[in-house]
Amino acid sequence: PSVPTLTLNTGLPIPQLGFGVFQIPPEDTKKAVTTALQAGYRLIDTAQGYRNEEGVGAAIAQSDLAPDELFVTTKLTNSEQGYDSTLAAFDASMTKLGLDVLDLFLIHWPLPKFDQYVDTWRAFEKLQADGRIRSIGVSNFEIAHLERLAAETGTVPAVNQIELHPQFPQAELRAYHSEHGIVTESWGPLGQGKGLLDDPRIAALAQKTGRSPAQVVLRWHLQLGCVVIPKSVTPERITQNLDVFDFELDRADLDSIAEMETGARLGPDPNEFD
Ligand code: NAD
Repeated sequence: PSVPTLTLNTGLPIPQLGFGVFQIPPEDTKKAVTTALQAGYRLIDTAQGYRNEEGVGAAIAQSDLAPDELFVTTKLTNSEQGYDSTLAAFDASMTKLGLDVLDLFLIHWPLPKFDQYVDTWRAFEKLQADGRIRSIGVSNFEIAHLERLAAETGTVPAVNQIELHPQFPQAELRAYHSEHGIVTESWGPLGQGKGLLDDPRIAALAQKTGRSPAQVVLRWHLQLGCVVIPKSVTPERITQNLDVFDFELDRADLDSIAEMETGARLGPDPNEFD
């Protein structure tokens, strides 16, 4: 299946569905990413903190895909925030990934108490100006953090990757993003295997559409206009999660998913997390 793209504020395309590798053990990552690339995924989402960038790089090197056929994202780990440490940590990632140019680099968490994300962002701007990163973005930023970047620097993030799923749909942040040309990327899109897919409303829609619960939820993300990066190490699920471009949820279906909102996060509050 061919994956549609969205356009980033750099003018560059991003596939609307990709493969996330959080919690895939380093020694299993090459195999999982190879399976994903063979299934047709072209966006891979890793992070320095996942300790599996080398496995991602090995899978890319072994594939016969040209660099411009792939979209690779990694994220600056929290301990390396700051101007000089960001530049050094970026170089280390590129060695592990085996790439000359990165498609998207994200600040993993804002860490407002540490108060380094503005200086970190200036290093991101420099790496982009030097041609080493095509698009720069953030993750887990709240509106206040985005407003501060806008006030103190010259570049709007291309992407904000945030926790987002039917129980935590992030309507306010999504509206802010669309006003400012920021693409929303959903992490934990399937609820991280913690029960979301067992909800009876999702089961009913799976029944109605003849799809799996995961496919229904992924379709919801796509119809909200988000980029979505589900994770799995199971080949059948890796394939299934990509097969979501030939059906649609209707208004009533979307309304029934909207009833699942609880306001409860799976992950930490970005304002508190340090
Ligand atoms: P996810 O919502 O993608 O859940 C993954 C789990 O869902 C799997 O382990 C499996 O248990 C289940 N699953 C997957 N496919 C399934 C299927 N077809 N049927 C049934 N169950 C299925 O959770 P995630 O991995 O946390 O999030 C996705 C990606 O987002 C990560 O891999 C990572 O790349 C990114 N992420 C980013 C942050 C951040 O702070 N920026 C945080 C967490 C995750």
